[in-house]
Amino acid sequence: MTQTFVDTIPMLPFGMLNAFLISRGDRAVLVDTGLPNSERKIEKALNARGLDWSNLTLTILTHAHIDHAGSAARVQTRSAAPLLAHHDELPYCQGQPPLLTPSGPFGRVFYRTGAIQRPFDTVTPDVIMTTDVFDLSEFGIAAQVLHTPGHTPGSVSVLLDDGRVIAGDLAASGILLGGIACRAHPKSPPFEEEPMRVVASLQHLLSLDCGLFFLGHGGPLPATAVQRHSDTLRQRFTPRV
Ligand SMILES: [Zn+2]
Ligand SMILES: [Zn+2]
Repeated sequence: MTQTFVDTIPMLPFGMLNAFLISRGDRAVLVDTGLPNSERKIEKALNARGLDWSNLTLTILTHAHIDHAGSAARVQTRSAAPLLAHHDELPYCQGQPPLLTPSGPFGRVFYRTGAIQRPFDTVTPDVIMTTDVFDLSEFGIAAQVLHTPGHTPGSVSVLLDDGRVIAGDLAASGILLGGIACRAHPKSPPFEEEPMRVVASLQHLLSLDCGLFFLGHGGPLPATAVQRHSDTLRQRFTPRV
């Protein structure tokens, strides 16, 4: 049976920032594109599986922050693969400054550096997801894209049929931006628009028996750690009466 591989593409060292390549046979789906000028790293990941840009059938943006969508426009030019983003993420794809609500002290400091507010090449997705579920079988992968809002309004996750899921910035692990150390320790990414929507999205994924969560910053995390994080968030943001 042909195996489906999920390869982490290290966009920054120590797991601080990851994109992912899902491949099966000679077909591959790219999930996120990293910071601007990351095409070479993506090409290396394709080559490591004996593939090149022509094998890419689809590029998916989990969301349109600069560290995930920064190279999307260039990838769109380099490959013939369509680019998919959720409808609710279109304003950020097209250059509207994102609402960056710090999730803690690191987010507040990071915000002041201005690094995440830098403009990047705007992008027009070829496939605009307007439903909650989008099936990937026609792109050669047994997986679904699920709308999992909260980090941003149009955040999506990619759930493989075997329970592995690429959840973007729905959660993170490690320290500071994520990764580096303590990678088994779940946390919020530096910014999070709507924490209670994050909880609902995490609970939705957990209810679908997701076993292993690949993350944009840090990870991967087992379902038990994600459940713990979801419980912590819920306690912190449930209004007290
Ligand atoms: Zn993000
Ligand atoms: Zn991120």
